[in-house]
Amino acid sequence: MSKIYEFVIIGAGLAGLTCCKKLREKGVENLIVLEKNDAPGGLCTTKVIDGHILDVGGGHFFNSRFPDVLEYVFSHLPKDEFNYYERVSKVEIDGHTIDYPIESNVWQLPLEKRIDYLISIIRNGESLGKPEPQNFEEWIRWKLGDKVCEEYMIPYNEKLWGVMPQEMDVDWLYKIPNVNVREVLQYCLESRQDVTKFPAHIHFYYPKKGGFGCIVDAIAKDEMPFIKCNTKVTLLERRDDLWLINGELQAKNVINTTPWNDLFCALGSPEELREDFSRIRYNRIVVSLYETEYDVNWHWRYVPDKRKPFHREFYISNFAQASKKGGMYLETGEGRFIDNTVQINGASSKGDFITDAAYPIPVLGHKQAITNILTYFRPLRLFGVGRWGQHEYQNADVSMHEAIQFVEQLER
Ligand SMILES: Cc1cc2nc3c(=O)[nH]c(=O)nc-3n(C[C@H](O)[C@H](O)[C@H](O)COP(=O)(O)OP(=O)(O)OC[C@H]3O[C@@H](n4cnc5c(N)ncnc54)[C@H](O)[C@@H]3O)c2cc1C
Repeated sequence: MSKIYEFVIIGAGLAGLTCCKKLREKGVENLIVLEKNDAPGGLCTTKVIDGHILDVGGGHFFNSRFPDVLEYVFSHLPKDEFNYYERVSKVEIDGHTIDYPIESNVWQLPLEKRIDYLISIIRNGESLGKPEPQNFEEWIRWKLGDKVCEEYMIPYNEKLWGVMPQEMDVDWLYKIPNVNVREVLQYCLESRQDVTKFPAHIHFYYPKKGGFGCIVDAIAKDEMPFIKCNTKVTLLERRDDLWLINGELQAKNVINTTPWNDLFCALGSPEELREDFSRIRYNRIVVSLYETEYDVNWHWRYVPDKRKPFHREFYISNFAQASKKGGMYLETGEGRFIDNTVQINGASSKGDFITDAAYPIPVLGHKQAITNILTYFRPLRLFGVGRWGQHEYQNADVSMHEAIQFVEQLER
């Protein structure tokens, strides 16, 4: 039999790479990272195509409220290697482009629409003192009123997630700005918004010399001898207090940073967890690159209109200094994507890239399901870290923070 590793890490995205680095800093050298792709990076991978810098996992921008993550990232890629931007993001409503988020910027809509939106927002369930609902669609109606719900939040989220809003939980909604009716009215009367209400990325860092993947490259550099690429984990068996991986590697501990539902069969389809695994779901997106001309300062724009298949547009050369002018990419939910349907200024895309797994879908019951899975495997020394390991809508900084914390708190 092969040697026994102290740790096998599944997946070389930022969570797996950070676990590897931090374990080594703790003195563990007997470890290996298994990555199914031919290079590390996962969702944070960048490609350069005809001079355009393309973050193939979709639009990625860096910032963090965690000092340990800022320190960690800047110790690998110094702060002066980044540009620092004030976010310029927009929403397209019925052909009108206004600042994000819509509820703070109703004043930018034409007068008739403004009135309709305000009446609807004032009549929302929250301001009428109704109890807080527990599914996404009802919650949005309760919080923002029918109009914002029907013209923006529902179509946008259906396009993004690919599931019906009634199936979705409310535990991820801290991701949307928390603005109440009084504030909506105040911003509208004063024709201004309060950007401190953004949940994330009021300002962001973006590498000067490349794409978001520069962060991965800097972190992965010293870990390469410990990463085995082109190695997909398809079998995880428990043998004599050890894990046997793909029938050949043995490990005392396994750290999973990949979607749990993909590992159900690999783990021998544990019957007692079948129901929980079925609530672990993710979507895929397609990122399509275009070359065009634009004269706007936007970084990205949300597009809820269902007649357009994509849900977000990114104006690359407005944030990636090293990118050729005119680059733009669209994000489309996999289920809505049909080859060559979208042209920009008469031009087809220069390439379409599908993510393996983009967003963990917060279907009703997902939180309890992942808690059950993690609780079941933890005593067997199989752990979950990062966006997929925790099955949580985490940004890259949170995935790195979790990995740092996980290794710090780990008892060996
Ligand atoms: C559209 C989009 C926009 C985003 N925007 C931002 C943003 O602006 N800012 C931000 O900070 N974060 C953003 N994020 C989130 C960020 O991408 C993730 O939080 C972060 O990349 C998670 O890292 P991870 O290592 O946990 O997962 P991943 O990057 O997904 O890494 C998992 C790795 O596991 C590998 N793998 C999968 N299955 C197997 C297997 N069976 N065997 C071996 N290897 C396997 C994969 O190939 C991958 O390399 C965004 C995400 C998406 C989808």
